[in-house]
Amino acid sequence: MSRVYNFSAGPAVLPEEVLKEAAEEMLDYNGTGMSVMEMSHRSQSFQEIIDTAEADLRELMGIPDNYKVLFLQGGESQQFAMVPMNLMKNKVADYIVTGQWAKKAAAEAKKYGKVNIVASSEDKTFSYIPDCSDLPISEDADYVYICENNTIYGTKYKELPNTKGKTLVADVSSCFLSEPMDVTRYGLICGGVQKNIGPAGTVIVIIREDLITEDVLPGTPTMLQYKTHADAKSLYNTPPAYGIYICGKVFKWLKRQGGLAAMKERNETKAKILYDYLDQSRLFKGTVEPKDRSIMNVPFVTGSSELDAKFVKEAKAAGFESLKGHRSVGGMRASIYNAMPMEGVEALVAFMKKFEEENA
Ligand SMILES: *Cc1c(COP(=O)(O)O)cnc(C)c1O
Repeated sequence: MSRVYNFSAGPAVLPEEVLKEAAEEMLDYNGTGMSVMEMSHRSQSFQEIIDTAEADLRELMGIPDNYKVLFLQGGESQQFAMVPMNLMKNKVADYIVTGQWAKKAAAEAKKYGKVNIVASSEDKTFSYIPDCSDLPISEDADYVYICENNTIYGTKYKELPNTKGKTLVADVSSCFLSEPMDVTRYGLICGGVQKNIGPAGTVIVIIREDLITEDVLPGTPTMLQYKTHADAKSLYNTPPAYGIYICGKVFKWLKRQGGLAAMKERNETKAKILYDYLDQSRLFKGTVEPKDRSIMNVPFVTGSSELDAKFVKEAKAAGFESLKGHRSVGGMRASIYNAMPMEGVEALVAFMKKFEEENA
């Protein structure tokens, strides 16, 4: 068996230890004589899985008691609708547009109310994070929305925007659990788990209790109300059970690694190896304003689309998977999530050096 170094932006690499544990438990989970996929979501065994997952996530992130943790479905894209449907009481929200995902979220919210784009980095192909220290936040805004790490463009907020007292909502899909977060600064944090936590199909929402009300937009389906899922502790209907089980294993793995502070240190070291090389390379160049660089998604180019294609092809043949940039931007992108080992980044840089010598 040989595993590649998988640099996919999502679904993405998972810790090998977790995959092995899941494989061992596939036919008989904990003496139940069945896999977690075959188990009733109302069983004692599954209740323990979801309760443990929530408790471990709370411990890892330091989630205060006045926040609910919800395990939902529908991808992060469904949150683009759920957020306005549940939070737009005044039917006004402010969006900061730093990439395709924030843009899509803003477009979806427009269906339900007035959306003000209070800042954008579209003028320079989303290669930076705008200054958000003094934005024209709307007096009557129900919330301010950000995409905290821009998966496609490789930018990350190093400081949260000054929302002038308004509720902050953040899509953290591609930086979830990559470093510690101060949960109290947000009203709602949401993310699809397939980038940095688990298999596609599960979305985690962390929401402050006062934002969970029955006062939602008229016609909001039962399944799209946070209250439905908060009241039923994520078991209103059949949850994405296997996904939650794998997320739970990743939470345990993160605890064994030393928690989120240790992950941050390791992620910064990994990213530095790649950025330091890019900064001195004669062939490759990073595309993002250095101060706004993501430590999860690292886009780069050679300047020639033929050379880019040649690089992606030769890298794949050498065991470096999914380095092609997003279809909307081209070039290359290395996603170096929590589960990408240091050796993977070192091996990639060695391969890039060799390619540079042969092609520069
Ligand atoms: C991948 C991604 C999404 C979309 O997630 P789906 O689960 O496919 O809907 C949204 N936001 C960010 C930041 C992403 O990286």
